[in-house]
Amino acid sequence: MSLRLPIYLDNHSTTQVDPRVVDAMLPYFSQYYGNAASKHHQFGWNAEAAVEKARKQLAELIGSDPDEIVFTSGATESINLALKGIAEGYRARGNHIITVATEHRAVLDTCRRLKLYGFNVTLLPVDRFGMVSQDELHRAITPATILVSVMFANNEVGTIAPVAGLGAICRERGIVFHTDATQAVGKIPVNVHDLNVDLLSFSAHKMYGPKGVGALYIRKSKPPLGLVAQTDGGGHEKAVRSGTLNVPAIVGFGEAAAICSRGMREESHRIASMRDRLVDGIASELEDVWINGHPEMRLPNNANICFPGMNADSLIMEMKEIAVSTGSACSSAIPEPSHVLKAIGLNDEDTRASIRFGIGRFNTEEEIDHTIAKVVETVRVARKTSPTYHLAHT
Ligand SMILES: *Cc1c(COP(=O)(O)O)cnc(C)c1O
Repeated sequence: MSLRLPIYLDNHSTTQVDPRVVDAMLPYFSQYYGNAASKHHQFGWNAEAAVEKARKQLAELIGSDPDEIVFTSGATESINLALKGIAEGYRARGNHIITVATEHRAVLDTCRRLKLYGFNVTLLPVDRFGMVSQDELHRAITPATILVSVMFANNEVGTIAPVAGLGAICRERGIVFHTDATQAVGKIPVNVHDLNVDLLSFSAHKMYGPKGVGALYIRKSKPPLGLVAQTDGGGHEKAVRSGTLNVPAIVGFGEAAAICSRGMREESHRIASMRDRLVDGIASELEDVWINGHPEMRLPNNANICFPGMNADSLIMEMKEIAVSTGSACSSAIPEPSHVLKAIGLNDEDTRASIRFGIGRFNTEEEIDHTIAKVVETVRVARKTSPTYHLAHT
């Protein structure tokens, strides 16, 4: 089989829609195009049945009940709904929110907004592997703390947080606990019952589904969680998130979840072995490189590699046949060094020298080998011509 270029290794930004997902979606554009909220005819019933099937498929993937799943337009909206909805609902109890320095912008910017509304926000630090500690969480909690949000797996360096332990601390104190599991769901086992989470956000397009659809898991409890809707309208999704449902996208999300449920074990091994091949291949050919993130507690598909003395943007431009990025797609329009790499202790120069490789379902070993060769060649050439590399690093 001939290699097709460019090679897509930016699977943390988004993933290719699985062809099986596309097939599942297609009839819901032109054949079953009803509104899932139309109660009076077959078109509506078909659409509603399809949405409920998808809800079950998502619930199976994360170990929840179907009626604990609310559909949204993506993880960004799920996160906004979770954080703003809890902040509003628990305002009378307290105004303190705890999250982590390495969170996605969807969390950090939502918290920044909440600060404008009078909430105090504590950002927990992480260690040099990107790991947040239970001790730090213990220390940060005050009587005014109403909400803790910790990402499950980091989108830049792949570090996996000790979610269950952090959740246990929150549960014991009666503090609402949210996790942004967008990079974790479908890639590694995520079961809401083991995790002590109240709210969990995830997104279809990070797990081979379509863009523009996501979900928020809201734990059923007595009394129910006091989450306040942030979108008012026709009362869809039990009035938590009004708006006509995107039926084809939801069907695709469900199919994507079912595929992950069936194949995650095998797939994560296959992807981790490609990731190890990439890292070993690059590290055996090039001296003076290192991996950002945690050595063990990490996503199977992530390799964030620092090439000290180099400029990652220039390297990426020199190897256009390899589609990678320096960090989160969402912030790459802003020429700021990565807040995640800074939080794990890298200096500005090293944050600008780091490249994120994100391996996915559709990558092949042949693509990995081509990538190794291209990266090694590009870095060797750049090192030879870099005025600063030898000064700084030999
Ligand atoms: C992609 C991503 C988001 C945003 O998800 P969208 O569905 O694109 O809104 C949030 N958090 C993390 C960790 C992500 O990787």
